[in-house]
Amino acid sequence: MYFGCHLSAGKGAAAMVETARSIGANTFAFFTRNPRGSKAKQEDPADAAKAVRLLEDYGFGKLVAHGAYTMNLCTADPEARAFAADVLADDLRRMAALPGNFYNFHPGSHVGQGAQAGIEQIAQALRQALRHDYPVTVLLETMAGKGSEIGGRFEELQAILDAVGSAQVGVCLDTCHVYDGGYDLVSDLDGVLAEFDRVIGLNRLKALHLNDSKNPFGSHKDRHACLGEGSLGLETFRRIVNHPVLKDKPMILETPNELPGYQQEIALLREMES
Ligand code: FE
Ligand code: FE
Ligand code: ZN
Repeated sequence: MYFGCHLSAGKGAAAMVETARSIGANTFAFFTRNPRGSKAKQEDPADAAKAVRLLEDYGFGKLVAHGAYTMNLCTADPEARAFAADVLADDLRRMAALPGNFYNFHPGSHVGQGAQAGIEQIAQALRQALRHDYPVTVLLETMAGKGSEIGGRFEELQAILDAVGSAQVGVCLDTCHVYDGGYDLVSDLDGVLAEFDRVIGLNRLKALHLNDSKNPFGSHKDRHACLGEGSLGLETFRRIVNHPVLKDKPMILETPNELPGYQQEIALLREMES
């Protein structure tokens, strides 16, 4: 199985692969640029090529890069929206240096324009970025439905997928977000997956973010907790890790940890595998 965590991209791609391996991970996530800004690192093709070789040598699963939090494809200001669309396209172009991996992002917040307008704006940015046919699969993240966030309901993600009309787009399921959003992973994991299948289709589910939640079911809050220290609990993660539909997907921790804590959680997940 493929377990990993969020890593700092500071020392480059090859260094991230080595760091991941050193803590027992065989996939990982990283921000393609400053998560709270928009500045991207200088590209380093030799480093990327080395990372590609290491990923192959070490038998890693697909990586799950993460777009900046500030990239809002459905912000109300047309100029800011165009900038966000350019950032998306540039991120997908950059992902070509690590071909065949995933790029996940938060669909966006419609900031009062209404979900329908937001969905159309997100889809338009994706259609534009995907025209270039870069070797990357784009993932929409399931959200907690905080404020005017799009993606708190499976129907909204499906509407984006429909409007984009590309097999190159899938979904990354964040356990904290989905539970906060009102999908009961704790008492009815099979029911949530059946609902995902009915609305979106499980063939579109490509990766997971494994996070416990500091808040109760349906709270729409989005505060991550370490595994077993929140309202989801370890038994829920044991079921997720061993679920036949989920077990081959990259599972990324975004828990409030530094590397030693992530190492422990990855070991815990590996112990849970039955
Ligand atoms: Fe995220
Ligand atoms: Fe997440
Ligand atoms: Zn979150």
